[in-house]
Amino acid sequence: MENLQELFETGLKFHGHKCPAMPMGLRAGLAAMKTLGVERAQDKELVLKSETGKGHAAGCFLDGLMVATGCTYGKSNVEKLYYNKMAFTLIDTKTGRSVRVSLKPGFFEKALNSPFVQKRKAGVLPQDVAPELTQPLVDRILGLPESEFLDIGEIQHVEMQSGKGIFEAKPCEKCGELTFVNKLRMEPDGKMVCIPCSGYTE
Ligand SMILES: [Zn+2]
Ligand SMILES: [Zn+2]
Repeated sequence: MENLQELFETGLKFHGHKCPAMPMGLRAGLAAMKTLGVERAQDKELVLKSETGKGHAAGCFLDGLMVATGCTYGKSNVEKLYYNKMAFTLIDTKTGRSVRVSLKPGFFEKALNSPFVQKRKAGVLPQDVAPELTQPLVDRILGLPESEFLDIGEIQHVEMQSGKGIFEAKPCEKCGELTFVNKLRMEPDGKMVCIPCSGYTE
C-alpha cells in the first residue's frame, strides 16, 4: 500500500465515512513510519500509543493511524491514552526507537473551525455533510506538505519488554466458551470460569 490514494480508499472502507480527520491520521502515520524508516506492521513490529480519547472532535484520526501503520486493536499493538490530544507515539519494537508526532496547534485550531466541523457541531452526521464541503478538505490534507501540519519529534529510545502471546485456551466450566488461560478465574468450588461468568470485571 505505497500509494496514498490506495491507502485512502482502504481507510475509507474501514472507517465508514469521508471526513478530514481520518486522512490526517493516514498522513501522520506515514510521516512517523518514514521518520523511523519502517514498513507497515504485519504483526507487532510496530506499537502505536495514541493520545486521542473518545467523544471529542476528530477522534477519527486514530482510524487513519491504524490503517497507515498496521497497528490494530485485534493485534493489541495499539493503545489509547485518552489525553484528548491529537498526537501519538509510534514505536519500532525491533530497534526500540520511537517518534512522537502531533498536529500543529495552529493547523488543528483552523481545522476545528472548518465548515465540516461547524456542521458536526450543529449535529449533522459526518456522512451527511455535503461532499462539496468535505471533499476539498480531504483533498487538501492528502496534498499538504508535512511541515505545514505535523510536528515530528526527535527519535527516542524506549525500553522494550518482550512477551510471546498466550496460546493455551480452555473451556470455561460454566458457559463452555474457549478462553485464554490467563483470563480464567477460579470459583470457590474450584471451577475455572471466564471473566463474565466469574462476576469479576477483570
Ligand atoms: Zn471520520
Ligand atoms: Zn463462561
